[in-house]
Amino acid sequence: MKIACFDEGRIGLVDGDEIVDVTTLCEHDPGAWPPVGPTRLIAEFGRYRPRLSQALERSPRRPLAGVTLRTPVPWPNKVIAYPVNYHAHGREMQAGYRATLQGFFLKPNSSLSGAGEPIVLPDLPGREVHHECELAVVIGRQVRNIARDEWRDAVFGYACLLDMVVRGKEERVFRKAYDSFCPVGPWITTADEVGDPSALQARLWVNDELRQDANTRDLVLDIPGMVEMAASVMTLYPGDIIATGTPEGVGPVQAGDRVRIRIERVGEMTVHVVQGRGGRNAPLEQPYDLKIVKQ
Ligand code: MN
Repeated sequence: MKIACFDEGRIGLVDGDEIVDVTTLCEHDPGAWPPVGPTRLIAEFGRYRPRLSQALERSPRRPLAGVTLRTPVPWPNKVIAYPVNYHAHGREMQAGYRATLQGFFLKPNSSLSGAGEPIVLPDLPGREVHHECELAVVIGRQVRNIARDEWRDAVFGYACLLDMVVRGKEERVFRKAYDSFCPVGPWITTADEVGDPSALQARLWVNDELRQDANTRDLVLDIPGMVEMAASVMTLYPGDIIATGTPEGVGPVQAGDRVRIRIERVGEMTVHVVQGRGGRNAPLEQPYDLKIVKQ
């Protein structure tokens, strides 16, 4: 099943190039704040699944092209992100560590945005904003201290994720926290439709130039390991998102660019980049000259 959020707080199921509105079926108030309906749907998916399957058979459909796709879990408990989790990316960043012995960081939930929403660049002359092509693993159950081989029970589904970042030496979270710096989408594809996530090809283009092209089999810390490590520290809740880390080929984006990400069996989305007006602050007004070592 492909579960999307669209327009103003609505929940839908995607089938081909159409979408079925299941907002009412999910007992979700689209005007509610905080927007926890999708989080709750994931937590209680077993109970809702039969009626959602029925809706896919019987309910009226709309063209997907006529809706605005939002981020599929707008109000998770947390977004966990693993840094330097591909060797080739570690080399290009001249990083002396890998995720296996470094752990993770968090991105703020407020940085989440959807496939139909732009990446808004902060007004930071002298800085580069880079794309990072990543797989999002969406948690489906409350778990803590689980064994590595229990990872599959914890996972609800997968999505494409762009971990956007202002390059620099300041705190990593600070540079990755801007609104719209974590597009996730175009929807969540449930785990049963993806199957084994350990060999998924992930590609990212800026405009029509292929910038990143890698396979999840090359992750340094694999998906079971990421779930196990996160759950060793924190309770994972339904709707939590794990960003798996980016392969080599990161690079700058500019206003007017289109960033396209495609992950095998998961989905594809194209996000536009626009220039915002705000976003300046003392640390990031300092220029930074990035030296990425290309392979
Ligand atoms: Mn990243």
